[in-house]
Amino acid sequence: VWFDFNQVIKETVDDLQHTTQKHKLIADFSATGQIYSDKDRISQVITNLITNAIKYSPHTDKIIISTKLEDNEAIVCVQDFGIGIPEDKQDKVFEQFYRVSGNKQHTFPGLGLGLYISSEIIKREGGKMWVNSIEGKGSTFCFSLPADGNGS
Ligand code: ATP
Ligand code: MG
Repeated sequence: VWFDFNQVIKETVDDLQHTTQKHKLIADFSATGQIYSDKDRISQVITNLITNAIKYSPHTDKIIISTKLEDNEAIVCVQDFGIGIPEDKQDKVFEQFYRVSGNKQHTFPGLGLGLYISSEIIKREGGKMWVNSIEGKGSTFCFSLPADGNGS
């Protein structure tokens, strides 16, 4: 079905904000539009990205969730200012069971499945997922989906 992507993102962000006192989830929606997709699956993807942003930012609180429209695509990004990912590992994080090892002071629980599942969902819905990151500075995970910018 067609739905307003900002609305499903806002609902998901509001739910997740209740799970953390420490982190501030900041929504920055610079466009509205409709995507044709499965609401629950898109909500699951955003949940995976935000829970990662929380988990891998033990010392910073700001997480920015942004949306924009480019041509006929909605682009959704989740930015954190946490531990980041070394450049040579950035492609691997989307593989099944892959986890970056060697994080100094902190150990982070997980299976290495969240990003694999998320990227598979986005592919199936006709989009793409990618990451920009600087080790020690933070990460921005984004996905695109075909969209209609007319609003309704
Ligand atoms: P889970 O299956 O519970 O999601 P996970 O978080 O380890 O476990 P993924 O979400 O697939 O698995 O992420 C894979 C790996 O990518 C993580 O183990 C971590 O090393 C790295 N990673 C993912 N998101 C971030 C992030 N926002 N900042 C830094 N590293 C990240
Ligand atoms: Mg994860």
